[in-house]
Amino acid sequence: MERLVQGTRVLQVDPVNPEPEVVAKAAALLRDGDVVAFPTETVYGLGANALDGEAVGRIFAAKGRPSDNPLIVHIADTAQLEGLVASVPAKAERLMDCYWPGPLTLVMHKGPAVPPEVTGGLDTVGIRMPDHPVALALIRAAGVPVAAPSANVSGKPSPTAAEHVLEDLAGRIPAVLDGGETGVGVESTVLDVTTDPPVILRPGGVTREELEAAIGPVELASMSGECEKPRSPGMKYRHYAPRAPLILVDGPVLEMQEKIRDLAMEYAEEGKRVGILCSAESRGVYVASVVLEYGARGDLAGIASDLFATLRAFDRHQVDVIIAEGVPEEGLGLAIMNRLRRAAGGRVIKI
Ligand code: AMP
Ligand code: MG
Repeated sequence: MERLVQGTRVLQVDPVNPEPEVVAKAAALLRDGDVVAFPTETVYGLGANALDGEAVGRIFAAKGRPSDNPLIVHIADTAQLEGLVASVPAKAERLMDCYWPGPLTLVMHKGPAVPPEVTGGLDTVGIRMPDHPVALALIRAAGVPVAAPSANVSGKPSPTAAEHVLEDLAGRIPAVLDGGETGVGVESTVLDVTTDPPVILRPGGVTREELEAAIGPVELASMSGECEKPRSPGMKYRHYAPRAPLILVDGPVLEMQEKIRDLAMEYAEEGKRVGILCSAESRGVYVASVVLEYGARGDLAGIASDLFATLRAFDRHQVDVIIAEGVPEEGLGLAIMNRLRRAAGGRVIKI
């Protein structure tokens, strides 16, 4: 089934057994040097032929993405690494065995086939094999590695459904493969394996604990994004942000709830429409114009999965300010807090 939204083709595809004739339409666009949005297990990506600098340029144009923020190259088979990377470190090989296909991007020294547009001029390239039948089928049908960032307008929360892609990019891209909601909900973990120990540049779907179980200690890059030379260019930009300013409150549950109640009251007295983003357990604790849950505190996978859609929902509710509850920074909590911090753009209250 195919429909048009402001000129963008929406190609309905079965997320488990993608129809080859549907995937072929999207693959043809990629081969013609155009862009197409597609589901992965993390978020929707906006893809282009990674070997074609001009095609890759269309991704940056559609998203309004700064040209120095490099893209991740998606492959369907490790044979495609040939030409993309200069060499594969032993620890990277071990991680590929454990976590590919999956939400893990490995940053390695780049090979001759990668145009400078993909890496923002860096001599390294980030590569991953996504764990989604549609993404894998698309890469195979296109016959080329696919460079893809998240399919949102730069700075906004990443899309976890085709509807989100259309909110941001309808009329700006030729097509989106609609394979329903993505599962993981936060982006891949970006791990730099050009150094030893390797360094997490962005926490994501594969946890630090999982990485360390496979290859021993890994370091965590400073996540402030305020250092002078961020190791991952993406760190320096405000990101994942709903329209209203977001304040993140982090600390023990009871103190956090009390602080959020106080803040909500203060803003309401100023005549502001207050939105609160909280766990299911806290829902009854707050009085505000809009209270949205991201899920149960004990279920970090559930929170990750719903986080971006919930952030987007605040735009529809037209709140003036959003106050968000933090989660413990273990397992997927590290990725969740990273996204919330970035959405807060520095407005973090630590109790
Ligand atoms: P997105 O495509 O929105 O998931 O963002 C990709 C992320 O991976 C950004 O934070 C990039 O800065 C990061 N990234 C991609 N390639 C590299 C690289 N070669 N070195 C460091 N970070 C990278
Ligand atoms: Mg992104």
